Amino acid sequence: MEYNLIDMIACPVCKGDSFSVIIIDKNEDYNTGYVRAVTNNKQNEEKDIKAIKNGILLCKSCERWYPIINNVYTLLPDSYRNENNDKKFLIKYKTKIPDTIINNGKPFNIKTENE
Ligand SMILES: [Zn+2]
Repeated sequence: MEYNLIDMIACPVCKGDSFSVIIIDKNEDYNTGYVRAVTNNKQNEEKDIKAIKNGILLCKSCERWYPIINNVYTLLPDSYRNENNDKKFLIKYKTKIPDTIINNGKPFNIKTENE
């Protein structure tokens, strides 16, 4: 994942351009998964998070989450997302994902599956 891209990406739903990054798995091979996570891309602050293999991009504006799977992030509008796959992703990494996303994440969460 060429993570310089995080400066250029925008949320497809609200057009927000600031994301939090949640790390699930780091990639041991920095060359294939270099990640530069920007805590506030206006000020260009960098947190040196290298090589995220699996993780989540969380839009700071509308709080939608987007998966990073095998070094690739996917930013799609809600109607193009696969609810089943997104929920499987949350279930698979449940212990590494903040409860706020597990229970209240947008557009999908697995709260009902927990009850
Ligand atoms: Zn958004």
